[in-house]
Amino acid sequence: MGRRFCKYQGCSHSAGHNPCKMHRFPADEEKATRWMRSCNLPGVYRNLAANSFVCSCHFEGGSGPSIEAPDPLPVNALQVSEISGFVLNGLST
Ligand SMILES: [Zn+2]
Ligand SMILES: [Zn+2]
Repeated sequence: MGRRFCKYQGCSHSAGHNPCKMHRFPADEEKATRWMRSCNLPGVYRNLAANSFVCSCHFEGGSGPSIEAPDPLPVNALQVSEISGFVLNGLST
């Protein structure tokens, strides 16, 4: 069994090394494809996502999927918010 680590682009968090939780890609192919797009992962669901994880850092509020926000935030959206919201850097933990 491989180590659980986050597939999100630019993230190297892994289970046991970071306090965040690892969330397995959904079994639903359509939903998993949305996750892959958010993570900026190339390839197709069957090859990549079936045994892949995304850590809770990339979800709204940083605490994993919720009813309101079941998908990870897209890589691009995160970059935009980092650029335009520089004040947030000092406030976020
Ligand atoms: Zn991550
Ligand atoms: Zn994380």
